[in-house]
Amino acid sequence: MTPGVPGHYWPTNLDDHERAAWLIDVVDSDPRRHTAPIIMPFADTDEALDALEDEFVRAFEIARAGGRRFGVKLLHAQDVGRGEESRIVAVVHEHRFVGGVCVNGCSDVEPVDGGEAAA
Ligand SMILES: [Zn+2]
Repeated sequence: MTPGVPGHYWPTNLDDHERAAWLIDVVDSDPRRHTAPIIMPFADTDEALDALEDEFVRAFEIARAGGRRFGVKLLHAQDVGRGEESRIVAVVHEHRFVGGVCVNGCSDVEPVDGGEAAA
């Protein structure tokens, strides 16, 4: 888990657009780092894992299509505490570029002077 940032449980009762709105809400709920660790439901089969990944990607892409500059990192086999099984945690953050480098904790870059980004 990301120290000092509370995790959010992936909503299982929403549709893709509602999940996209939820994603934006949880990222915006951290006004300092714009980072939201999202605890994915436990998947005990490859099919369940694939379905979860598809769900996540659909909501994530809807949020990005709406203009949010989100990036995501997946952390596998995270101990989320409370005696629960280890889970995948999807850490979503909004890129904030200063001098061409994201200051919200990732390695993405953007062009400073109209050139092409290295990423
Ligand atoms: Zn970033």
